[in-house]
Amino acid sequence: MADALPIAGKNNPFSEPVPMIDLVSQYNTIANEIREVVDETFTTQQFVLGETVAEFEKEVAHYCDSREAIGCASGTDALILALMAHDIGPGDEVITTPFTFFATASAIHRVGAKPVFVDIDPVTYNIDPVAVEKAITRRTRAILPVHLYGQCVEMEPLWRLAIRSGIAIIEDACQAIGAEYRARRAGVLGTIGCFSFFPTKNLGGAGDGGLITTDDPALAKRLRRLRVHGDVGGYNHQEVGLNSRLDALQAAVLGVKLSHLENWIEARQQNAKRYGELFRHYQLLDAIELPAVLPERRHVYHQYCIRVKGGHRDSVQTHLRENQIGNAIYYPVPLHLQECFSDLNYKAGDLPHSEAAAEEVLALPIFPELRPQQQETVVRGIARALGRLGDTATDPPILFTESHKRAA
Ligand SMILES: *Cc1c(COP(=O)(O)O)cnc(C)c1O
Repeated sequence: MADALPIAGKNNPFSEPVPMIDLVSQYNTIANEIREVVDETFTTQQFVLGETVAEFEKEVAHYCDSREAIGCASGTDALILALMAHDIGPGDEVITTPFTFFATASAIHRVGAKPVFVDIDPVTYNIDPVAVEKAITRRTRAILPVHLYGQCVEMEPLWRLAIRSGIAIIEDACQAIGAEYRARRAGVLGTIGCFSFFPTKNLGGAGDGGLITTDDPALAKRLRRLRVHGDVGGYNHQEVGLNSRLDALQAAVLGVKLSHLENWIEARQQNAKRYGELFRHYQLLDAIELPAVLPERRHVYHQYCIRVKGGHRDSVQTHLRENQIGNAIYYPVPLHLQECFSDLNYKAGDLPHSEAAAEEVLALPIFPELRPQQQETVVRGIARALGRLGDTATDPPILFTESHKRAA
């Protein structure tokens, strides 16, 4: 399929459906490797923690340049465990962004602390450090920045605030494995880093999984205890923890996938670059905003989110859907306006940049195996939705050059 030459008109490949993500085609490239390690795991019958998990933890620690890595059951649990390891609970405040996946704030709520939502920077969609500073009170115990879509938060001002106020930084790096800020990887930019291996993440397992990174040996020791009910050995429980371990099967699968992660990240970056060229070619840059990559960052494009200006996001989405072109909205309701947090008393208008982003962002397919022609289908779909493109016959696609054929 990859070498099929696209021909406009008859059998037009530009009208083929484009999936938002295609885990099957990724699996097909590594199926033999995966089957082998899964088979090995069954041979040992060691399914929870054990040698395979310890090995994978070492590999992630090395990848992130962290001293310690502690596997757990999910990204959500990683966040909960990180908060527990800081003794954060009732009466405490944790400052975070409302423009993120629900788990960021639910973890804070789950340990009994209060999420304090502050607005985002409209360019990167990441938490605004100036807003964080204004929200610090005597009760603030931690800042919980999220490296949204795979681009790191502006950390330096947060480091200053953390030192000045004696509070922790817990990174939600669930979308950002491999992302960098000043040549340091996500996961080592705060006190603790939290990762998710949910199947659709850049490094995704065969089910739920998570991991915590830290350079602090005392914190690591406590996290290893907290994930096994607080057991320090011999059924002696110094404190009440969780049952939150990484399965050996997950670690085995993830170990294989980690060895491909850099290639997949590069493919995502290539795809992002190609989208930029296509949107420029179709002269759409007045109608949409491309994702901005700030200096000193390595963006790993967990998501490629454009901003559709002029109130056209929903009609663009409808058009793409009708044409079976994958897309998604991350996230349609900012967390400060979620019903479950209504007792925190936020109202519409309180965090305007987050609310505007929720109405304007649109995530496009960016998975590593995405083909250039599929990307052009996406961009043409958007152009058509915005009334910028006639029919295919009079306005042929551009991806027919030798270089693009090779890339395909
Ligand atoms: C995926 C994700 C989580 C939660 O991870 P799970 O493994 O699904 O529990 C938390 N925060 C962010 C930003 C995420 O994208």
